[in-house]
Amino acid sequence: MDPRINNAHWRERDLDSLWHPCTQMKDHEWLELIPIKRGQGVWLEDYDGQRYLDAISSWWVNLFGHANPHISQRIADQAQSLEHVILAGFTHEPAVLLAEKLCAITPDGLDRVFYADSGSAAVEIALKMSFHYWRNQGQPGKTRFVCLSGSYHGETLGALAVGDVALYRDTYGPLLMEPLVVPSPDSFDRGPGCSWEEHALAQFEPMLRLLETRHDEIAAVIVEPLVQCAGGMRMYHPVYLERLREACDRYGVHLIADEIAVGFGRTGTLFACEQAGISPDFLCLSKGLTGGYLPLSAVLTGEAIYQAFYHDYSDLKAFMHSHSYTGNALCCTAALATLELFEQSDVIGHNRELAAHMRQAVAELDDHPNVADIRQSGMILAMEMADNQGRPYPWQERRGITVYRHGLANQALLRPLGNVVYFMPPYVITPDEIDHLARVAIEGIHLATRD
Ligand SMILES: *Cc1c(COP(=O)(O)O)cnc(C)c1O
Repeated sequence: MDPRINNAHWRERDLDSLWHPCTQMKDHEWLELIPIKRGQGVWLEDYDGQRYLDAISSWWVNLFGHANPHISQRIADQAQSLEHVILAGFTHEPAVLLAEKLCAITPDGLDRVFYADSGSAAVEIALKMSFHYWRNQGQPGKTRFVCLSGSYHGETLGALAVGDVALYRDTYGPLLMEPLVVPSPDSFDRGPGCSWEEHALAQFEPMLRLLETRHDEIAAVIVEPLVQCAGGMRMYHPVYLERLREACDRYGVHLIADEIAVGFGRTGTLFACEQAGISPDFLCLSKGLTGGYLPLSAVLTGEAIYQAFYHDYSDLKAFMHSHSYTGNALCCTAALATLELFEQSDVIGHNRELAAHMRQAVAELDDHPNVADIRQSGMILAMEMADNQGRPYPWQERRGITVYRHGLANQALLRPLGNVVYFMPPYVITPDEIDHLARVAIEGIHLATRD
């Protein structure tokens, strides 16, 4: 190999021409940008030969490891016969098989699939479909959406509008529709002696009051079931979803479950909604859907909603929404291959053991004065750093970056969300690799909270 083709080589060329997502590019004057040469399982390798354990599944998308032989082979085979075809007026085998399979594995009543190409697009579609459904049903006054404080649903303008993470939203405020924001059931906010369940029930009161009084103008409530991921891996008890489902039914409001991050086993069940025994009116899926290979998303809904759009053309009730790459055959094949891996072994059962190991591996942080909370939902484990009084460190201190850099220097890709250090690894991680991650994270947290 040409010794000049090293990290520095690609870093320099990159910084001459690229603009990276969710990045203050000036940070790269002092924060190293890592060019990755290859991936294998949970490991990434750069051009200097350094390795990094991908603790965050490359932004929560990877489920079965990088360069997974089964998924790679299926995509390669599909590419030999059909890479893509327009999905309006035409269809193809991977799109049909995947739709059938998604209907079969998701909660009851979700038996129609609409494809798109990113999580944000799926959220846009669910919002538009909900609004459009009410309009087609003669209730055009139902135009408002309800979301939870601390929620995140993507960054295109509609999806951003129903989010409540200031860092992403505030700048664009003047461009965004105004949602009705209700306090989150986030367990981190519960008082001393209060259980997750009691807290969730108490926090449901304002949601109930809002639906009671304003359901005439509300089209849908959108939530991230069980874990508000981008908002800092904030978690809540499933009873909230149970109550929300009942209330949405009672008041004639749609429930949109954004399982883009938590779907496909992250919370310990294939879908998070299962833990509350509920079916949403719209289910948004993406991220893990293709095992982290290709951009694809899906919105599932039920027959009653589908029928509200099923009319003579001249009634102008059709859902006129499209993306160029809707239902791409390679993406659908990657998703089918990913679902095959779920069928080939007891992934969810195996994850239970890994999840227990993950929790036990960070047990020594239970008494750390600067770890205010350790919480877990299945394969997501989060540790919240706080000062000696339990207050959040000011964001300007950027303590998470100390953990991030300690990780990079010690074979781990950890990417804290502010003060929250978390693991959300691919399911092919081993107990030894979990121990490695835990060691690096614990050291990083010690370093980041020293003063
Ligand atoms: C990542 C994410 C999205 C947006 O998905 P993109 O593919 O990044 O557009 C939406 N909702 C949730 C809950 C997410 O975690």
